[in-house]
Amino acid sequence: MNILHSLKSVRSVLTFWYALILVAAFTLFGYGVFVYLRQLQEVELEKNLTEEVDWIAKLMDLERSTVPGGISIDRLSADVERRIVDHFMVNPRNYIIILTTGSGGIVFQSPSSGIQILPGAEILSDQTMLWSMPSAEGGSIRVAARRIEPFVIHVAYTEKVTDAVLEHLLSIFLVLAPIALIVSVAGGWFLSGIVFRPIRQVSQLARKITAENLDQQVPPRNVNDELGELITTINEMIRRLRASFDQMREFSVNVAHELKTPLTILKGESELALAKPITRAAGEKLATTYLEETVRMSRIVEDLLMLAKADAGQLVLQHEAVPMADLVRDLFEDAQILCATKKLHVVLRTNDQANVRGDALRLRQLFRAILSNAVQYTDPGGEIRISSTVSGHELVVEIEDTGVGIPAESIDKIFQRFFRAEGARDHAPGGSGLGLAIAKWIAEVHHGSISVRSTPGAGSCFTIRLPLLS
Ligand code: ADP
Repeated sequence: MNILHSLKSVRSVLTFWYALILVAAFTLFGYGVFVYLRQLQEVELEKNLTEEVDWIAKLMDLERSTVPGGISIDRLSADVERRIVDHFMVNPRNYIIILTTGSGGIVFQSPSSGIQILPGAEILSDQTMLWSMPSAEGGSIRVAARRIEPFVIHVAYTEKVTDAVLEHLLSIFLVLAPIALIVSVAGGWFLSGIVFRPIRQVSQLARKITAENLDQQVPPRNVNDELGELITTINEMIRRLRASFDQMREFSVNVAHELKTPLTILKGESELALAKPITRAAGEKLATTYLEETVRMSRIVEDLLMLAKADAGQLVLQHEAVPMADLVRDLFEDAQILCATKKLHVVLRTNDQANVRGDALRLRQLFRAILSNAVQYTDPGGEIRISSTVSGHELVVEIEDTGVGIPAESIDKIFQRFFRAEGARDHAPGGSGLGLAIAKWIAEVHHGSISVRSTPGAGSCFTIRLPLLS
């Protein structure tokens, strides 16, 4: 299994392809050289044979013109024969020469012949013919022939020599091929090792980085290559991981803190009640505190559960047409009830009948969270204004109050989980800092947005934008 795995490794695959390409190139080159040399030798041999035939032909022409009565029909003059022998003795190549009469009778023959001579009639005059024929010693013989009346000149050369050169070349190639294969596999393995060494170093460094030392970074590379890019990506990923780990830690601290306060109250009250006998009125007060704190804790746990489900994508939402006029009117009625107890004035301004696609319950939850904040953070005598208008393809709902406002340094943070601006506890002691985080999620899951503008001491205005149902 391990061998199979290592065979599939990038390094093995790279080595394999490297070796394959190198061997293929080597074979192709060898084959090309082989074919080229064979061709070259053939051309060269034909050229030499033709030249030799021409040389003898010229000699005979000369002889015929100088000797009165020309060359005898059945034999060569001793001078011509000597000159031919001398010529071919000096020539390092082992040519075979046969001179025949037109009818095939041999007039002159060099020692090693054994060539099947074509009948003279088939040899055209003034044109050198070339052909190959099998040799008695194996291989083949290349023959050039030409008719010079009254003779036919044959010059031949055994291709055994040229074949031997090529065979030699082939055997050299066959010896070199496995060596080239071994060298290319070893070279490929070595080269890919060099390429992967820095990657291995990076991965070893990255492996050392754990949740506890996320402040570490892989040392950046000065060269802006693929590896440098990989290191930058890893370092960015570590930074993002650190941010989410920090967020998680902060979140756990906040959860613990939010639950600790009611639990401390419950513990203290219980200890007090157990320390001495209590009256019925004190018992009732105790029970009321218990209930209030339990309700607060359950709300925090419910909100957390909802956010956790939302994060995990497990929250199932309805996708129905929600008539926003109804929703805003319900919100206004809720506002009237809430504001009555706190002596706040509520104003509603809506004139558009628009529908939004989404989950009516969640949208109501979103508006109620903003409204309840507006009521909580506005002192008695203040005003809450609710307006709903259509702008382009969006429904714009604004919930404005004349409350305490949000400090400038906190405005960017109020949608974060558990964030509460300074002084928030005085106005809303039961709050947990989760309401706006949930509201933001609901707006975004409906492809909308939520934003705020606020003037400390003068009031805040939350704007919710939702795409209209087209
Ligand atoms: P909380 O339970 O504290 O109200 P939220 O998530 O609803 O939590 O709000 C986060 C913080 O935003 C609040 O603690 C408060 O500081 C600030 N805030 C929200 N709405 C208003 C508002 N209408 N006026 C002033 N401050 C607000």
